[in-house]
Amino acid sequence: MPTTLNSAALLEFDKNHIWHPYSSMSNPAPLQLVESATGVYLHLSDGKKLIDGMASWWSVIHGYNNPELNKALVEQSQKVAHVMFGGLTHEPAITLCKNLVEISPQGLDKVFLSDSGSVAVEVAMKMAIQYWQAREKPEKHQFLSLNNGYHGDTFGAMSVCDPITGMHHLFANAMMKNHFSESPSCKFHDNFDPSSLDNLKEQLSTHKHQLAALILEPIVQGAGGMKFYHPEYLKGAKQLCEQHDVLLIADEIATGFGRTGEMFACNHADISPDILCVGKSITGGYMSLAATLTTDAIATTISNSEANCFMHGPTFMGNPLACALANKSIELLKANNWQANVKRIEAFLSRALAPLELNENVADVRVLGAIGVIEMREAVDMVSITAAFIERGVWLRPFGKLVYIMPAFCMTDAELEVLCGAMVEVVGLG
Ligand code: PMP
Repeated sequence: MPTTLNSAALLEFDKNHIWHPYSSMSNPAPLQLVESATGVYLHLSDGKKLIDGMASWWSVIHGYNNPELNKALVEQSQKVAHVMFGGLTHEPAITLCKNLVEISPQGLDKVFLSDSGSVAVEVAMKMAIQYWQAREKPEKHQFLSLNNGYHGDTFGAMSVCDPITGMHHLFANAMMKNHFSESPSCKFHDNFDPSSLDNLKEQLSTHKHQLAALILEPIVQGAGGMKFYHPEYLKGAKQLCEQHDVLLIADEIATGFGRTGEMFACNHADISPDILCVGKSITGGYMSLAATLTTDAIATTISNSEANCFMHGPTFMGNPLACALANKSIELLKANNWQANVKRIEAFLSRALAPLELNENVADVRVLGAIGVIEMREAVDMVSITAAFIERGVWLRPFGKLVYIMPAFCMTDAELEVLCGAMVEVVGLG
């Protein structure tokens, strides 16, 4: 095979040999071939230029081909690209963990680095199980999570995803049996209704003797429905966990690093979970990296147990390139006034998407931070709607009934205008 293929040959090979996320090998969906990307634009092999409203699944918060992130990557590669984390350590990882401890909710000062969001969730679940073993309550090894939740695709993570939409039925025989509470009914912008916590209360009190932890996505339920719920629900969940002696794991893999208008979504409710998972935008979307943070009390209990240590250790733990990028990304967030930008995007999206509230095919329009969601009454046809967006120079990837945008924080008002204009037009086509 020649080493350089033309675009048609590349796409042909891809179609015949490469799995994409949730894809079929026998009936593959059309693909766009990206040649390069700069700022908020994707440049395709056919010469098209698309404004990216997805930020590559929430992660590219500073835009593509960012000169400062590029420089951080090159400089670190000239020092050490990778070194094992067992018995060795390095400055980029130490600086990153210091940064994470500083910016995360109070009390989370022990950090475990891993490779991806799903693994960070597995690590959090293992920490909770080891904690209760160390406390001589090994029967507390199950989890409670929320309907409409999404926590990743590995086995532990799958077992706490929504039981209907989260692949459970396919893997039911092979999966941990966990518990589920109703999805929070109180919306972010509505008045808080305390009865929205009733089902959670009931589940916690029924299963508390078996429960290691409640795991939830704070404030925004992402891939399971793009729903925004009330901070008082989160506050109540934290209190209920304390009352019932159940740990709280906050999965901030999608919400962390400013997306909802706070550095972490837990800040909306002013709570600290017992365990926190972060990933996705941690490196500005350049590389895969994740972290699981916990308290001194949990870390010490695990470490002083019969096991003597926490039982996990990925090969690429604390990869120096990824850590250097994460440090630069956090520096850029602070330097570029991320909060003002997210507020600006929130105001723009609220204004620009509002006309769709009157559309008969639209069930709901909601905006929080740099997230804009149009929920349709019926599921959209992903192939045709994606093509309609591409025709208008826009990259969006709707799923189910949801057409949504979560741009890079540097996206200008003029670029948002193009994106929102295309959303209003395409959704209006019905
Ligand atoms: N948790 C949440 C809340 C997520 O949104 C995701 C990814 N969409 C994950 C976990 C899994 O992360 P990853 O895809 O990096 O494994």
